[in-house]
Amino acid sequence: MPELPEVETLRRTLLPLVVNKTCTAIKFFRKDIRFTIPQATLRGQFANQRVSQIQRKGKYLLLKVPTGAMLWHLGMSGRVSMQTSITPREKHTHAIFQFGAEIFLHFIDPRRFGCILWVPQSGEHPLLDKMGPDPFSPGTNARAMKILSKNCQSPIKTFIMDARRIAGIGNIYACESLYRAGINPKRKAGRISLKKWDQLISCIRTTLENSISVGGTTLRDFFDPSGSKGYYAVKLCVYGKEGEPCQKCESKISRIVHSGRSTFYCKTCQK
Ligand SMILES: [Zn+2]
Repeated sequence: MPELPEVETLRRTLLPLVVNKTCTAIKFFRKDIRFTIPQATLRGQFANQRVSQIQRKGKYLLLKVPTGAMLWHLGMSGRVSMQTSITPREKHTHAIFQFGAEIFLHFIDPRRFGCILWVPQSGEHPLLDKMGPDPFSPGTNARAMKILSKNCQSPIKTFIMDARRIAGIGNIYACESLYRAGINPKRKAGRISLKKWDQLISCIRTTLENSISVGGTTLRDFFDPSGSKGYYAVKLCVYGKEGEPCQKCESKISRIVHSGRSTFYCKTCQK
C-alpha cells in the first residue's frame, strides 16, 4: 500500500515535470474510482491552467492551479506512471493527464480505493477539513500534541494513527516510530509527557525521512514502461519481526493484535 513516503517521493518526482506546466489534455476511462471523478470540473478548471505547486497533506497530493487544486489519493493499490502517449498501456488505467507535449501521467489503480477529485480555491474539502497537520508541518509539535491528547484514554498508537490528530501515519510507521522513541504502544496517549512527545515526533519524522531516502529521489516504477511495481522495502526494526531479537536489547519482539491490526514492539525497551 502506498504510504506517506511513497506519496512524498511521487510529489518530488512530479515537481520538475509538472510545476509551471499546463495540463493540455485529460482522458478518463471510468466515471468513478472510490468516488465519482468530477470530470467536467477538472476539464473546465484544471486543464489549460498553469500548475503552481504540488502540496502533500498526509497521503493526499494537491496539484494546485490558480482556481483550486486537483486532489489525488492512491488508496490501497494506486500509482502514477509516466508514459509516452495518451493511450493506456495497462488495465486499470483510470485517467491520463498530459502536460506540455511529452508528459503523460497515467493514474492506475486496480483495487480502486484511490481518488481523483477537485478542491476549490478556498482549500475546503470534506476529505481534508477534519485532517490533522502533516507530520512534517510545524503544527505537529510536542505542545500541540500534549494539549490534544489531554485526558485521552486511547493507546498512543491509536492516537498517532488517527488522521484527525496527525495526518498520514500508517501502521508500519506507527510501530517503528514508537520503538525508536521507546514508548509502549499500549500506553495511554494522555500519559505521554511533553518531553516524550518531543522525542516521538522527532522519531516519526526520522522514520518517514529514512524511508523517503531509501526510495531515492524517484519512484522505482515511475519511468518504467513495463510498470513493474514495488513500493520500497523500508529497513524495519520491529514491524513483521515477531520472535526476532530486538536490535537494542535482544529480547524477543512481541506482536499483539490491536483494533484488528498487528502491533509489534519490544516489551523491554518500550515502557
Ligand atoms: Zn528491546
